[in-house]
Amino acid sequence: MSAETEKKEFEKLDKEYIVNVYNRLDAVLDHGKGSLVYDVNGKEYIDLSAGIAVNVFGVCDDVWQKAVIDQLGKLSHMSNVFYTEPQIVLAKKICEKTGMKKVFFSNSGAETNECAIKAARKYSHDKYGDGRYTIITLKNSFHGRTMATLTACGQDSLHQDFGPFLPGFVYAEPDNFESVKKLAEENKTCAIMMELVQGEGGVHPLNPDFVHQVADYAKAHDILLIIDEVQTGNGRTGALYAYMRYGIQPDIVTTAKAIGGGLPFAVTMFADSCQHALTDHTHGSTFGGNPICAAGAISIIDRLDDDLMADVRKKGEYIKKELESCQNVEWVSGLGLMLGVKLKKDLMEVVNGCVDAGVLVLTANGLLRLLPPLNIPMDVLQKGIEKIKAVIDG
Ligand SMILES: *Cc1c(COP(=O)(O)O)cnc(C)c1O
Repeated sequence: MSAETEKKEFEKLDKEYIVNVYNRLDAVLDHGKGSLVYDVNGKEYIDLSAGIAVNVFGVCDDVWQKAVIDQLGKLSHMSNVFYTEPQIVLAKKICEKTGMKKVFFSNSGAETNECAIKAARKYSHDKYGDGRYTIITLKNSFHGRTMATLTACGQDSLHQDFGPFLPGFVYAEPDNFESVKKLAEENKTCAIMMELVQGEGGVHPLNPDFVHQVADYAKAHDILLIIDEVQTGNGRTGALYAYMRYGIQPDIVTTAKAIGGGLPFAVTMFADSCQHALTDHTHGSTFGGNPICAAGAISIIDRLDDDLMADVRKKGEYIKKELESCQNVEWVSGLGLMLGVKLKKDLMEVVNGCVDAGVLVLTANGLLRLLPPLNIPMDVLQKGIEKIKAVIDG
């Protein structure tokens, strides 16, 4: 069987046996190292997708791999009814680096947001009693695919087929403080939840004035501010967490994707204000804080330092400038290495063209989206961007 026939056979079996929710691009990936990935035919791709902002140090990163393998040979899994060391070490590091007071570990973006939603409702219930349960999110937001986090998403297109939804979610206009304030006055509100750079909704960084107005209003009314950093977190925007770039103090920060370095891992962080909201038996997770994932996460958080953050900002500016110079690019949005490109050309034609040319890219709500590994070597990045430019203007 020729390599190409084998690839077609894989694609056929995938379509036959796996639920068709992904509309996959035409590449059957097999192995890789860092920012380079290879398909089953040995074709090389420059990875500007990082598994959707997961592989901060690329695929099969040496330091992460060693941490994971060492832990795998020591203690693979134990129940959360016992103490395990990697969790404790990681929790302390995260709290020391962020100033947050406590963490809860789970396995995915949706779960970390579920935890935040539960904690916010419990905080409010403990303090104010029944009824004060509304959570304000923003239009175009994305918070996950479970029923509660799907309800939290401010996108009608995601809601069409799955009602009824969870009561107590309302949607404000992004970058419009009056819209948030109006909803907060009309509803007994316990929390405001938002991404600082809306990812899936179209790589839109929120206006800093808006963010500060919302943060101040929330604080004045004892409404918890939940910042969803599942995608923006862990260095992606050129700061350890995007809220640090915006200069605000959230009550709850949720993160996942990159923190696990390629294994499923998520963290919900609590500030002083609500660190005691979740108490004995009010929440839990079988796999949350799994020793292997936690050991890997330690090796990630340890390396997200100021030098890397400066490098992320520099590389982001470079990509922006290069792509803005393309004739068929309308604009480039984003922060750090989380970028969206509005094209004057058919999006899927460009995406397929990039994959064909050996560059892995993504889309987000009508935009070309780039989320390279943060440590991608400059010469590899340059080569990738040149290829994309050739596809866009070719
Ligand atoms: C990816 C993402 C999620 C959902 O994460 P899963 O791990 O797929 O559940 C939630 N919020 C944001 C901002 C995301 O980008």
